[in-house]
Amino acid sequence: MIILMAHWATEKHIEDLREHIIDLGMAAHIIESGKRKLITVSVSGGPLFDKSFETWPGVEKVFPIIQPFMLASREFHQENTVVPVGLKKKNSTPVFLGGGEFHVIAGPCAIEDEKTALEIAFKVKEAGCSLFRGGVFKARTSPYSFQGLGKSGLKILKKVKKETGLFIVTEVLEIQEIEEAFEVADILQVGTRNMSNYRLLESLGSTKKPVLLKRGMSSTIKEYLMAAEYILKNGNPNVILCERGIRTFETYTRFTLDINAIPAIKQLSHLPMLVDPSHGTGIWRLVESVSLAATAAGADGLLVEVHSNPQMALSDGLQSLIPERLKSLVDKAKAIKKVLRVYE
Ligand code: PEP
Ligand code: MN
Repeated sequence: MIILMAHWATEKHIEDLREHIIDLGMAAHIIESGKRKLITVSVSGGPLFDKSFETWPGVEKVFPIIQPFMLASREFHQENTVVPVGLKKKNSTPVFLGGGEFHVIAGPCAIEDEKTALEIAFKVKEAGCSLFRGGVFKARTSPYSFQGLGKSGLKILKKVKKETGLFIVTEVLEIQEIEEAFEVADILQVGTRNMSNYRLLESLGSTKKPVLLKRGMSSTIKEYLMAAEYILKNGNPNVILCERGIRTFETYTRFTLDINAIPAIKQLSHLPMLVDPSHGTGIWRLVESVSLAATAAGADGLLVEVHSNPQMALSDGLQSLIPERLKSLVDKAKAIKKVLRVYE
């Protein structure tokens, strides 16, 4: 269960209650939620609910929560969470993920050089996108593959941001990289291979930077939402989920995009949910159809790999769209969203 403290609750109210819960043999964690404090209460035996806690001084409400991902669950937070991006940036219009706007984040798998990155970024902008993706710290399956430009790639992202005004999404693989990428990144991405890197998630949780958390390729929906919980529990409410395909027996496609996960997660959680059809299929010819299916299934946006010369791409060329195809995808996905809104 979650105990929501009143805005007037004192430190003593909170501390007395926390000690009482611990004396009862339960675990209690205090979380800052805007100007309020919450106490998550759990016990290894499973969910619990005791309405009598509402009689404690300083308590406003007790939420019964069955799901183990308490803060990520819709039981606790019924309205959709809206993650703002670029709210405090001068001379740019912020974007909002999860609040009814639909955004396609597009760009190359990896930043390769300044000229290519800028060329792709301007085309991404022309296609109607506000967010640019590009990895500089890359988690590649083979240690012999291109591992990303590292810190020098961040300088290129800075230039892209300055020249195009696009918001920047880039992946971090380890705690130290959070600080390195912090200034240029508007959203920090956690890749599929790091979904269960709990220390990394906790560190991202102690910032307020939006985090795009991809689903682990072999993780269940529950494990995935528990990973999001690590970030939320540490005080960062700005979590964006992203289905990117899971491992199945099918080998024709690179992964199997779990379309079920979109409505399932939208029902279970209040967090915004994107879909990555590029890694989900591994085949550029499938990317548009799968993007449209994901949009119809309720995705709040897409994450799409784009390259001006996919044959020469240093990573994931096979699944990268040429920029000319991106515009058609964005227009069709937005049209689907518009039709669906009529019935909301
Ligand atoms: C990526 O977005 O480039 C990436 C590496 O994705 P994933 O972690 O889903 O494989
Ligand atoms: Mn990639």
